[in-house]
Amino acid sequence: MSGFHEQNGVLCLDSVPLSDIAKKYGTPAYVYSARVIRDQYDALAGALQKTLPANRQPLLCYACKANSNLGILKLLQSLGSSIEVVSGGELKRALKAGFAPEKIVMEGVGKTEEEILAGLRARVHQFNIESFGELDLINRLAGQEKQLADVVFRLNPDVGGAAYKKISTGSKGDKFGLAPERVLEGFARAQSMEHVRALGIFTHIGSQITETGSFEALFKKIADFVGLLRSKEYEVSRLDIGGGFPIQYQDEDLLDLDSYANAVREHILPLDTEIIMEPGRYLVGNAGVLLTKVLYEKESYGEDFLVVDGAMNDLMRPALYGAWHGIEPVANRDAALHPYNIVGPVCESSDVFAKQRNLPEMKPGDLAVIRTAGAYGVCMASNYNTRPLPPEILVDGDKIALIRARQSYEDLLGADIIPDWLV
Ligand SMILES: *Cc1c(COP(=O)(O)O)cnc(C)c1O
Repeated sequence: MSGFHEQNGVLCLDSVPLSDIAKKYGTPAYVYSARVIRDQYDALAGALQKTLPANRQPLLCYACKANSNLGILKLLQSLGSSIEVVSGGELKRALKAGFAPEKIVMEGVGKTEEEILAGLRARVHQFNIESFGELDLINRLAGQEKQLADVVFRLNPDVGGAAYKKISTGSKGDKFGLAPERVLEGFARAQSMEHVRALGIFTHIGSQITETGSFEALFKKIADFVGLLRSKEYEVSRLDIGGGFPIQYQDEDLLDLDSYANAVREHILPLDTEIIMEPGRYLVGNAGVLLTKVLYEKESYGEDFLVVDGAMNDLMRPALYGAWHGIEPVANRDAALHPYNIVGPVCESSDVFAKQRNLPEMKPGDLAVIRTAGAYGVCMASNYNTRPLPPEILVDGDKIALIRARQSYEDLLGADIIPDWLV
């Protein structure tokens, strides 16, 4: 059996009981499945291969902000994935993981001069432009580097569709992208520049989009807009149509990949451009869990609390978005159900993973997993309450690798400096 499954009453990942991992690496810890990542990549790439001609396959750029551990990046790179980076740090990671420069798309609302220079020197495939100031800066820096930088403009198409407001990025008022009139202005501006070449547009309307209809609405807007650009004699040879592919957190209906691929074939393919996509959570989200241990139980005003050793600093999504994550015990999985508040040790009322959730009875010392933690988990983790970042472990069949060690207190305290006038 592969992936997360129960064997002899214990939750395992491939052939490895999660209790063994807890024993070896301690808790809290992130545990990932290489096989699930591979399966997700194959499912998306497969749907596209089946539906789009071989010479028109999209560049699948993994939005690595979802999980940028070098071990995960290397795995995706080895599968043939391309990558999208949103900072100089992510660019460094992409290069270190071995992604070829022509497979790197550089995005970000506030790229700094240093980051743009690093992108130019690496010769990334393109910059996704979010403002005219950035366009001007790229033109100047590319001139300085004696380069011609390829850029696409991020269009804010005013299309909704994300699962909730905080992960919507393509509606009026969102900070991302430019309104259509501004993108037109951007093309005009770029035409007068010597060191940039405007090649197309980019949209990313948000995350957890479960309806092909939301994508179709977007694709129609893109097609109309490409028509408008071409009517004004602007070249449009690249379309980056973003990410937002959903994963299973609870019991949501997921996007039908074949119908998505068909919508791409119907609306985007005829525009005859290079096609770029940016799947993030889809590739890694369901591949990861946060493994945690129950520290204490207590009753207060009639509610039962389980205090676990993982916290909001390790996995921020419930506190940040009110996101729902599945929780399961590692053993004694058929115990009688009991309503629990599952909380972490951090001194914040929002450090709650679940409220009044019916779970098999657990007691101090028991292990549990918080599911769907492979995306936007460890990469959002902080040292709040001076808690070390948890380790990350990658499992592939019977192979187990520590892909990031637990942070030490030396790592944590070592960067602080006490002024000598206080010593
Ligand atoms: C976050 C992000 C993605 C990926 O979003 P998912 O919901 O993880 O697929 C893709 N592109 C951009 C620009 C993003 O900001």
